[in-house]
Amino acid sequence: MIFRQFFEPVSCTYTYLLASRHAGEALIIDPVKESTSEYLAAIQELDLRLVQAIDTHTHADHVTALGDLRDLTGCVTLMGERSRAECVSRHVRDGERLSVDGLILEARYTPGHTDESFSFVLDPEAPSAVFTGDALLIGGSGRTDFQGGDAHRSWHSIVGRLLTLPDATLIYPAHDYQGRTSSTVGREKAFNPRIAGKTEQEYVEIMNNLNLPTPRLMDVAIPANLACGKS
Ligand code: FE
Repeated sequence: MIFRQFFEPVSCTYTYLLASRHAGEALIIDPVKESTSEYLAAIQELDLRLVQAIDTHTHADHVTALGDLRDLTGCVTLMGERSRAECVSRHVRDGERLSVDGLILEARYTPGHTDESFSFVLDPEAPSAVFTGDALLIGGSGRTDFQGGDAHRSWHSIVGRLLTLPDATLIYPAHDYQGRTSSTVGREKAFNPRIAGKTEQEYVEIMNNLNLPTPRLMDVAIPANLACGKS
């Protein structure tokens, strides 16, 4: 399998390019508009054909590359069924499987950070990795104070829908602010300070008292992303 993890330093966003083989079809998860040329260079270098571009949720901190990638490569754009982005060509349901050249991803509805967040499990028959967007971060979780966020739902998504995957499943989040590139289900169960040894009520307390500043780009990014980054 071909796997590339890209890092966009302004918003600390991770983007993932996946393909089953050299010269095959590829998909990309959570691409950032400013990095589009970097993705295209990698796609060309590996002789891939991009067929799907996925956003895990409507990002508030950066503008998506979905629209640009669609225009430049003809790929299908895809989000979860609760997304209000009318521009995407396909909305996936919970449990639906995406198949690209032998690569299989299962869409899993994981609300809480937003009310429309999805995660994607690679190799659902024997999970090897999960792309969690901001539903679950390394040693943290995505804020729950806007875009239909809800700390109770976040807890249930994390504890009931992500950390129920096998312990060795790799976790690839949409962000990390400390340079960590992946984790595992087992590690997050044992060490995520918001989750390990905590009750739902304790988690909700933590999330409701984060007092985070509003993302700098939020007023630009959300409307732009509802138009796939094209407005
Ligand atoms: Fe987010």
